[in-house]
Amino acid sequence: MKKAIFPGSFDPITLGHEEIVRRGATLFDEVIVAIGVNSAKHSAFDAQERVALIHAALADVPNMKVELYEGLTVTFAKQKGCQFLLRGLRNAADLEYERPIALMNRQISGGMETVFLISSGETSHISSTLVREVLKYGGPMEGLLSPAVIHAIQGMRA
Ligand code: ADP
Repeated sequence: MKKAIFPGSFDPITLGHEEIVRRGATLFDEVIVAIGVNSAKHSAFDAQERVALIHAALADVPNMKVELYEGLTVTFAKQKGCQFLLRGLRNAADLEYERPIALMNRQISGGMETVFLISSGETSHISSTLVREVLKYGGPMEGLLSPAVIHAIQGMRA
C-alpha cells in the first residue's frame, strides 16, 4: 500500500491545500494530512479546530486521514507507515524553500522521497498567512477557503 504524508500547519486549510490533497489522493492509496503542532508557534486556530476544518473540507475524500504530530516529520511518517512525503509548489520561492528540506528528509530517513505537485493557476496565490490577514479584518473568504470551511469557521467564531 502506497501511503503519503502531507505535512504542514494548515492554519487554516485553504483551497490550495485541498487541491494538493485531492490530487495526491488519486496517486496514493492513502494520504495523511499531518498537522505539525509546535507549542512555541502562535496559531490562529488551535489544533482541534484545524483538525475539524480539514475534515469539513475533505469529507468526500475517503482515503484521507488527519493526524497531529510533534517532532521530525520523517519519524512520524515512518511511524504511520508512509513511504512518501507530499508537498505543493506554488512558485520558484516554494521550490527554493523546499529543496533543502526534501534532500535533508531523504538523507535522515534513509531514502524517503518527497513528491511535489505544482499548484494550479487558480490557487497558486493562496497562502494560509494571507488568508489569516483577510480573516482578521473580516474580508471575503470565497475562492480562498471551501464553503464547508467558511461555514465551520463562522460556527467557531460565533
Ligand atoms: P508550512 O507551514 O510548512 O508553510 P503550510 O501549511 O502553509 O506549510 O503548507 C503545507 C503544504 O501545502 C506546503 O507544501 C505548501 O507548499 C502547500 N501549499 C500551501 N498553499 C498552497 C497552494 N495555494 N497551492 C499549492 N500548495 C500549497
